[in-house]
Amino acid sequence: MKRLLLVLGIVIIAVGATAYFLFPWTNPAPVYVGETTGASQTPVEITYIANEGVLISSGGKQVLIDGLHREYERAYAFLPPAEREKIETAKAPFDKIDLVLVSHRHLDHFHPESVGLYLQHNPRSRLVSSQQVVEEVEKNFKNYDAISARVTAATPPSKERVTMKIDGIEFEILRLSHGTGRHATIQNLGHIIKLGGKKLLHIGDADTAIENFAKLNLDEEQIDIAFLPFWFLTGSEGQTVIRDHIKPKQIIAVHISPGESEKTITQMKQLFPGAVAFTTMLEKRTY
Ligand SMILES: [Zn+2]
Repeated sequence: MKRLLLVLGIVIIAVGATAYFLFPWTNPAPVYVGETTGASQTPVEITYIANEGVLISSGGKQVLIDGLHREYERAYAFLPPAEREKIETAKAPFDKIDLVLVSHRHLDHFHPESVGLYLQHNPRSRLVSSQQVVEEVEKNFKNYDAISARVTAATPPSKERVTMKIDGIEFEILRLSHGTGRHATIQNLGHIIKLGGKKLLHIGDADTAIENFAKLNLDEEQIDIAFLPFWFLTGSEGQTVIRDHIKPKQIIAVHISPGESEKTITQMKQLFPGAVAFTTMLEKRTY
């Protein structure tokens, strides 16, 4: 009996081994439980707020850029009152923003009271922006003392950048000119946010002049997503900046006037067919 079992065992092993070598495609591929395609690849969810306002979320971290403003001129998109109230008082889904960034003090990007109220209602949130924006909040938000410890002014010199890390969120602030004339004195900041293994660029109302971007070498950064005012996509100087000095993998056009969105989208799609246009407030995209 023992001999029979031994022979049977040898036969089973021999048949198995033969099948293994003759028909390797029948062998199941190894499965690694818990394996990911790279630890840093967490999905990044982007919510369009209004005008140039975007909320970037990934891996439990949230960054809001230019998302706290009010009605200024009808040409610029702004949240309806109920939604604005929700974001200003940090109600869900706006209750978990870690970092509030503002590109510049113009009222289609920022309202001092809106920013102050958000920081007051979400005691975990922080504001990092230019000296000018911080001064506006200090001057115009009555409860500034309650939030001042969570406010940081960072204004790098012209065409330079600073690297920062707040609450585990890495980002860079770039100083980009808003232009000449009445805009010459405006401190305009660009931002590179590193979240979910991706690099997201927001440039505020940067001037399209090539010298504004040339020195920063953003084309070497491998920017995944660039939020760009639509006029970069529709004007020749801005198009050169995109192609030679930013080279983003994905463009999301912002600052699109509600009354002219159809015309703007048709125009920008001619040269950048893959670009996304943000026109529907609170729409979401995941990358
Ligand atoms: Zn502006």
